[in-house]
Amino acid sequence: MRALTLEDGELRFRTDYELPEPRPKEALLRMRMAGICGTDLALVSGYKGRYTGVLGHEYVAEVVKAPDQPQWVGQRVAGEINTMCGNCDRCRRGLTTHCARRRVLGILDWDGVFSDCFLSPIANLYPLPDSVSDSVAVFTEPLAAAYAALRDLPANVGDQVIIFGAGRLGQLIAIVFKQAGYDPLLITRYPQQVAVAGHYGIRTAAKPAVSAYDIAIDATGDAAALPEILPHLRPRGVLILKTTAAQPSVLHLSTVVVDELRIIGSRCGPFPQAIEALATATLDPTPLISATYPLSQALVAFQHAARPGVFKVLLQAEPSPLGL
Ligand SMILES: [Zn+2]
Ligand SMILES: [Zn+2]
Repeated sequence: MRALTLEDGELRFRTDYELPEPRPKEALLRMRMAGICGTDLALVSGYKGRYTGVLGHEYVAEVVKAPDQPQWVGQRVAGEINTMCGNCDRCRRGLTTHCARRRVLGILDWDGVFSDCFLSPIANLYPLPDSVSDSVAVFTEPLAAAYAALRDLPANVGDQVIIFGAGRLGQLIAIVFKQAGYDPLLITRYPQQVAVAGHYGIRTAAKPAVSAYDIAIDATGDAAALPEILPHLRPRGVLILKTTAAQPSVLHLSTVVVDELRIIGSRCGPFPQAIEALATATLDPTPLISATYPLSQALVAFQHAARPGVFKVLLQAEPSPLGL
């Protein structure tokens, strides 16, 4: 089958990748639409060391085979990306996205979704209502990650929010904070970022207006940005980290001590909440789509996604040579 792989640090479009066979509790899925995200670009530049395999983790797909649970066959789904064992200490404590034996679609020891077909644990799948189109539903995973930033906020922290990074994820975070009643300031670098934010009624600026925000969110995807962000928090303010970069960030942590800042790492979020928002059109992510390419143009799509100021680049399934 066709697949976009990362092998020895190099992106390759293969037409000879082996079609996987579902094991117990797994489904074989046919990709319908998939989104390229900052993490995919970071993996190509070396984040996580040496990931080898098919890239991609944001998807809408159709279940083709589910030997254990054939009732899923034909179902259109979105899916969580972390696999879990269900038995380890962390799983038993409910920290399933932190399973000690965790594997992650397209990120860690599990082939991702930029291919004709791929595998997922059935437990990770969410049926999609017919009201939500593929190009909207493909935002489920990144939107859930945006909701995670809201979910992880400590209580009574204040309502002055600044978001650094106005790309794919930064915009989604700004939208969910706006819808939750905040009036976030989104720091932008490119005119198209201002235009998209304006569509959602989000305030933008090239620089922070004041240096006393209650909540600062790093969605820059750039390890070097963090030292610039810290000074804009008030004492006891909250910093939410969304960036997963290949390079380390260098910080003087004494600022964190003296100002008693709280730092929160935030990764994966609630799928049901994201699907609900998309299905009821509470949140229309389509202004965030920069381009859609067929799977066979995946390499071109990747180059497009890496350009500055580009939002979501999507990959779309083509008729499969496998007849699936
Ligand atoms: Zn992602
Ligand atoms: Zn586990």
